[in-house]
Amino acid sequence: MSTGFSFEIKSSQEGSMARVGTITTPHGSIQTPAFIPVGTKATVKAVLPEAMADLGAQALLANAYHLYLQPGSDVLDEAGGLAQFMNWPGPTITDSGGFQVLSLGVGFKKVLAMDARTFRRDDVIADNKERLAHVDDEGVTFKSHIDGSMHRFTPEVSMQVQHEIGADIIFAFDECTTLHNTRGYQELAMDRTLAWAVRCLDEHKRLTDERSTKPYQALFGVIQGAQYEDLRKKAAGDLGGLVSSGQSFDGFGIGGALDKDSLGTIVSWVNQVLPENKPKHLLGIGAPEDLFVGVENGIDTFDCVLASRIARTSAVYTMEGRFNLSNSAFKRDFTAIDDECDCYTCTHYTRAYMHHVFRGKEIIASTLATIHNERFIVRLVDQMRQALLDGNFADMKDDFLGRYKHRSGQARD
Ligand SMILES: [Zn+2]
Repeated sequence: MSTGFSFEIKSSQEGSMARVGTITTPHGSIQTPAFIPVGTKATVKAVLPEAMADLGAQALLANAYHLYLQPGSDVLDEAGGLAQFMNWPGPTITDSGGFQVLSLGVGFKKVLAMDARTFRRDDVIADNKERLAHVDDEGVTFKSHIDGSMHRFTPEVSMQVQHEIGADIIFAFDECTTLHNTRGYQELAMDRTLAWAVRCLDEHKRLTDERSTKPYQALFGVIQGAQYEDLRKKAAGDLGGLVSSGQSFDGFGIGGALDKDSLGTIVSWVNQVLPENKPKHLLGIGAPEDLFVGVENGIDTFDCVLASRIARTSAVYTMEGRFNLSNSAFKRDFTAIDDECDCYTCTHYTRAYMHHVFRGKEIIASTLATIHNERFIVRLVDQMRQALLDGNFADMKDDFLGRYKHRSGQARD
């Protein structure tokens, strides 16, 4: 039976895990490697969907946790699904909410209260902060950052929410740990994530059958295991070969604690074990230098909220690195943000104008800067894809990194 979802590898690289492929979904295809811009709450902040399509975005990623809280996943279901609701004609993806209920979503980055009785060192909650999320073997209970109401996510609830939202690619509900957790806790969380993966596959199968008139949604498993080689490889082996209710994962996300300096090593451990013929997504990674590392190690798609988030603070990417347009040095600079960029902003506006609208706190500043940054990252990964096809990826990488001077981190919304 055709599901409308497939992944085809068109070209593989000698001596590297990099590949070029096509992900096909019921809402269209994605040429990979690809950068997927983030529209957390069913909007890329400050930018129209048409502008996102114009700048080359092939798909958008939204977040199940945020849409569950507001407006409610039932509203999106009634609207005909995420793509229809947000007027985005192409493929869509939702993150499961696992990361959000455990961290950012509860309003404070390090509010992660694990089972504090047994794992006191893993109780990484900051002093004087209210504990907003509690994990147990069945799921996570958390407090809404919007109105303080209590909610509970289980693997089944996450699947139900993501089926209602209706994105083409959805993620299994996982327990996301931090680099601060002990090895013992990482093992416990990984066992829990595997048990949850089975429950996600079962519930996904049940919902796919029950909602058989809806477009097929592909389910990706999430590989955890922090910085430990044996745990990462075990997670990849367990989830890569997992079949439950006759269903296996359609692809995989690599998530969890990812230390920048070991990013490539971790991704390569995992991708040596995962099935080669399934797409691999690197969650929350989008800094230019990290994208090269991901592609070289077999990543097909990326998402990151950084490009749009920093744009709203006047920070822009250029071939020479990253800078802030609100800096007074740009008051009379009548050149484009990046004279090698082909985006709408760079072809119509100057740094001086951008400086003026940022200083004046004009709404258009966010719009124009976001268009530029998203185009910069989307195009960079497009250029990597072309370089892989042309057989000159190594040269392209050396040229880019030789000029680009800035290192930034991981960011999920
Ligand atoms: Zn531009």
